Amino acid sequence: MEGKYIDQQVTSAEIKALAKRVGADCVGIAPMSRWEGAPKQNDPRYIFPGAKSMIVLGFRIPRGLLRGIEEGTRFIDYPGMGYASLNQVHGPMVLWKLNRYLEERGFEVFPLQNANGGDAVNPVTGKFRGGLSRHVAEGRPLPDVLVHFRIAAYLAGLGEFGWSKMFLTPEFGPRVRFAMLFTDAEFDAYDPIYEGHICDRCKLCVRNCGGHAISMTESVKVTIAGHEVEWGKLDELACEEGLHGGEGHALSPFDGEYPRQYGYGRAVEGACGCVRACMIHLEQRNKLTKTFRNPFRKPGWTQWKVDHTKPYEIPPEVVAEYGLDGETKAEASDADAFSPLND
Ligand code: SF4
Ligand code: SF4
Repeated sequence: MEGKYIDQQVTSAEIKALAKRVGADCVGIAPMSRWEGAPKQNDPRYIFPGAKSMIVLGFRIPRGLLRGIEEGTRFIDYPGMGYASLNQVHGPMVLWKLNRYLEERGFEVFPLQNANGGDAVNPVTGKFRGGLSRHVAEGRPLPDVLVHFRIAAYLAGLGEFGWSKMFLTPEFGPRVRFAMLFTDAEFDAYDPIYEGHICDRCKLCVRNCGGHAISMTESVKVTIAGHEVEWGKLDELACEEGLHGGEGHALSPFDGEYPRQYGYGRAVEGACGCVRACMIHLEQRNKLTKTFRNPFRKPGWTQWKVDHTKPYEIPPEVVAEYGLDGETKAEASDADAFSPLND
């Protein structure tokens, strides 16, 4: 019959090879049953009750996108291409391609990009958002269900939680973001939970955290798929604040709100502790399988800081070279940032 699906099973090796060919950097596959025990508001089996398998895709954050923040010279690239567009552009492109491949073979797919908005549980605070949504039927969670990407990555065997609560993979350490899909396809093989140890509890993430958001001593312990998992207690609201530029904005040179790319421009602190310090440490310790010809940080490097209590000043030689129109990027409105005139 014309238009009939291709009557062919898809193997785990085949879907992983395809995912990598179309842009994923690491792939793990787990049976949906691994979500057993998840809180109702966080259980994706309510989203797609017929799903048998979950495919989790990891996408590397290019190390160079942290460079401008490391040097203190260019800040848009990490929050833009290294954060929002990985989640909102690249990840969905790969999900669309995998969806098409599986649909052509008659399988339904629920692709889940790394984006939030309508979740009944606040993804930052973990608290319930009263007044947002109502049950559509008794017994179901309130819309929208919030799926934890790092827990999905753990269930799919992609790595472990670091003390920072960041998810660390053996390839990239904390330099990775995730997307996933749920499907009614069953696979011949599923990945085991990762049993290695990447995080050595060096606590450099704590010492370098711009928001003082990660506890040095207090931890959180949870059981995920029968495994005991522990990470350092994270103050999410302190992280939210710190991410904008650290305490007193010392880790941001910008005085106003930073312009956004893909609706996201906040991460000007460049995840100073939980990504950069951790990544540098793991690279130095040869803990990661993806290596570089040159170290990220040269000996003698010190973290720059900006004193925002001092009056704003432009050196006279800069004014002489460029002139001064009195308007800075920090004054641009969101509307200006998205104006086609900026293209
Ligand atoms: S910086 Fe050290 S303690 Fe923190 S997550 Fe990385 S390896 Fe673990
Ligand atoms: S993003 Fe910044 S403020 Fe948040 S935990 Fe990481 S280092 Fe700390």
